[in-house]
Amino acid sequence: MKIVIVGYGPGGAAAAVAARMFSSESDIKILTDETLEAHKKPGASLALEFPDTEKLSINDWSVAALAEKRIEVLSGTRVEAGDPVTKTLQIVNGNGASVLKFDRLILATGGIPNVPNIPGIALQGVFTIQTLADTRAIGKQLSGMSTIVIIGAGFSGLETAERMINLGKETHMVVRSRLMRRQLEPPMSAELRSRLPRSFKLHLGSSPTEIVGDQHVVGVSIGDEIIDADAVLFMTGVKPNTTLAQSLGVRIGDLGGIIVNEQMQTSEHDIFAVGDCIEMKDTYTGKNILLPIGSMAARCGRQAGVAAVGGKKIYADTSKRLQYDRLFGIDVVCIGHSSTTANDLGVKTVVQYVEDPIEFSKTALVLDSNGRLIGGQVIASRQGARLGYEILERVESGVILKDQPLLKPRHERLLEYLENSFGPIQ
Ligand SMILES: Cc1cc2nc3c(=O)[nH]c(=O)nc-3n(C[C@H](O)[C@H](O)[C@H](O)COP(=O)(O)OP(=O)(O)OC[C@H]3O[C@@H](n4cnc5c(N)ncnc54)[C@H](O)[C@@H]3O)c2cc1C
Repeated sequence: MKIVIVGYGPGGAAAAVAARMFSSESDIKILTDETLEAHKKPGASLALEFPDTEKLSINDWSVAALAEKRIEVLSGTRVEAGDPVTKTLQIVNGNGASVLKFDRLILATGGIPNVPNIPGIALQGVFTIQTLADTRAIGKQLSGMSTIVIIGAGFSGLETAERMINLGKETHMVVRSRLMRRQLEPPMSAELRSRLPRSFKLHLGSSPTEIVGDQHVVGVSIGDEIIDADAVLFMTGVKPNTTLAQSLGVRIGDLGGIIVNEQMQTSEHDIFAVGDCIEMKDTYTGKNILLPIGSMAARCGRQAGVAAVGGKKIYADTSKRLQYDRLFGIDVVCIGHSSTTANDLGVKTVVQYVEDPIEFSKTALVLDSNGRLIGGQVIASRQGARLGYEILERVESGVILKDQPLLKPRHERLLEYLENSFGPIQ
């Protein structure tokens, strides 16, 4: 069977490896218009600070490692269009144009940066970061620049800001409402904000109305104020890249992503799709959502790889947020729904907060009206991932939080420890 995968990000690479695990005979090819080997996009901002870094490579998914699994990567190969009836793709690479046949196709074509349509957006010095090649090129141009304005306050925007501050740049961030609005509860946003360096200039509650400049950017207008800028980085998320999917005639949803079922199969029987290019059902509400994050792409990729070679295995929920980052020296972890994402889907929530002031951590636990834990967030000086894992376990098993509490206050844990060691303490 010929399995063709378009896209060499986490979705495509995970799909290829899973397909091979479940089918030793299939001919598996990955096509990508990029020319770099598999690399970590989470963390790609490292290449702003160190453009030539090798630390972003993913060895298990390198061209050589995949070749050992008899998975061929055709780099520098663009898929222009496809036909689901003849099961062919029109491809263009260094050898010119040709046609490639498939039995099963997996689309892992990622996202396209979401950039607002405002005056000046095409000026020199205005950037988005989508590929590692972009990031390296921007990193090399930054040396002559001193003031950087970042638009957007999600994980990648904040990661980028940290790099800019490390490079000694005057760094501004324009934030429509508050830091990480969709991922963090308001008190968690405020906690994160209180831990940022004072030199980092936040413009909360602002949106860019114009990028100012003649040929090259000189500033960003936010209403009445203009922030001087040598470069502007838009870190405002992505929308699904469905150009190829549309040429194949697969169904696209109201949110703009490719519609898939729980096996990642599209409206065409032999075409699957994963990652930033899809929209999928949130398992808690059954409503469609977009979740453009790497961990979701890899989980969906594994599912699609198995299904494409005829496997029946269904992986546990692919639609939950699972994000961890270390920002400005603190762990930030987001699991499942925040009250914002849940409320957007019509779910009422109650949020409980637990703080450990000694070894600093602040945790938000998001419950539905039945007391079921549906998400949580952690900001911690260290071990945030461990706390996040405890939340994830409970979210995945759908427990009522009071039946399986976690994160007892430190004095209660200490009392428990002493009582377990020495017997009851009056
Ligand atoms: C700076 C940055 C930081 C991030 N940080 C995090 C993070 O901390 N945590 C996290 O979970 N996620 C993070 N993300 C998001 C994460 O990188 C994406 O969700 C993930 O890469 C999506 O994987 P994917 O496989 O769907 O697509 P991508 O990784 O976007 O790959 C798409 C692939 O499709 C190929 N392609 C598209 N169209 C064609 C075509 N017509 N022909 C040939 N090839 C084509 C491209 O060349 C590429 O190889 C970050 C993203 C960025 C940009």
